[in-house]
Amino acid sequence: MMQSSALAAEGAVKGLPEILGVPVQQIPQCAGCNQHILDKFILKVLDRHWHSSCLKCADCQMQLADRCFSRAGSVYCKEDFFNGPGSAQS
Ligand SMILES: [Zn+2]
Ligand SMILES: [Zn+2]
Repeated sequence: MMQSSALAAEGAVKGLPEILGVPVQQIPQCAGCNQHILDKFILKVLDRHWHSSCLKCADCQMQLADRCFSRAGSVYCKEDFFNGPGSAQS
């Protein structure tokens, strides 16, 4: 059975408009760079938040704002997800 999970990035989750009044602990933290995300747009993938520029393929570093695939907690672009190590043979 194929355990592929295609994640459409939930896309543009709107940032909190009143973000400046929000305690810093409540500002989402980027899973990629561990900085707080103060951007208007926050990507939510794998139940984590990402800067749109931080969500990259773990293999080729391509930005994945559009659509991404996850395996073992890492995100990949479509090509690397299907062609990456471990996916060819089974
Ligand atoms: Zn980041
Ligand atoms: Zn890739």
